[in-house]
Amino acid sequence: MTGRIFAIEEFAVFDGPGIRVNVFFKGCPLRCRWCHNPEGLSGNRQVVHSPNGCMNCGACREVCTSPDACVLCGKCITACPRGLVRFAGDDWESEALAKRILRLKPILQHGGGVTYSGGEVLMQPDFLCEMLDKTAELHRAVETCGHGRAEDFARMLARVEFVYFDLKVMDAEKHRYYTGVSNERILANAEVLMHSGVEHIFRVPFIHDVNTDDDNLQHMARFLAKSPVTPQIEFLAYNNMAGAKYPLAGLTYNETFEQPYPEDIERAKRWLGDYKISFRK
Ligand code: SF4
Ligand code: SF4
Repeated sequence: MTGRIFAIEEFAVFDGPGIRVNVFFKGCPLRCRWCHNPEGLSGNRQVVHSPNGCMNCGACREVCTSPDACVLCGKCITACPRGLVRFAGDDWESEALAKRILRLKPILQHGGGVTYSGGEVLMQPDFLCEMLDKTAELHRAVETCGHGRAEDFARMLARVEFVYFDLKVMDAEKHRYYTGVSNERILANAEVLMHSGVEHIFRVPFIHDVNTDDDNLQHMARFLAKSPVTPQIEFLAYNNMAGAKYPLAGLTYNETFEQPYPEDIERAKRWLGDYKISFRK
């Protein structure tokens, strides 16, 4: 089976225990206003331009015969003298991708493993399950926004050792405003995860005035209290560089979010301090 991947990162250390290979699935059903990975949004293969180092020579534009609707001919890629143009989204056979990951097994098997991330892994559930099966000899983690069909979520859970699950905003309408979708399905899957026995951490992108208020934190505390184990929560401060990659994918970033204030962090500790919480800048 074939799946679409937009990046493979070797020797990664932040997305699971030990040294890992991170595999980024292309395509996401959410449109979080603070997303810092615009390459992962569309499920389609696309051409991306790195703005860093561009001398504006125009060679990439001159060779293009279809500027209004890219036909993925690749001419602009070969035309750029600086190698700044590339495809994002390669189609991989599961067998070949598993072989590439398992090549590093002698390193990964000592406390590390493989992490499947995105985009959103649940956008390609059959391919994900096949990859999880083919790399079962490693520690397998996934990072998910949780917006997938219940049956796909269950299939995935049956095959992993570790899950990072994003919790963004607890109010359904506010969630829709900031991400484009309601959070009903996400919260239902989060509850399944809590009761699954699979080790997991809830990750909260922490953004001033988006989800740092008492209402949201109280709601989150009430929700996590349903867990039969002490929940682990990792707050990730809003990334001030979130917009940096948008020109790369031909997109514009117009948001002006802020990192959490010290009092936001204090408020989170007040509401969620009974759990295992950590904050990452
Ligand atoms: S790949 Fe490049 S040259 Fe070809 S159609 Fe797309 S933008 Fe134009
Ligand atoms: S060909 Fe390369 S250097 Fe020239 S304008 Fe295009 S991206 Fe910039």
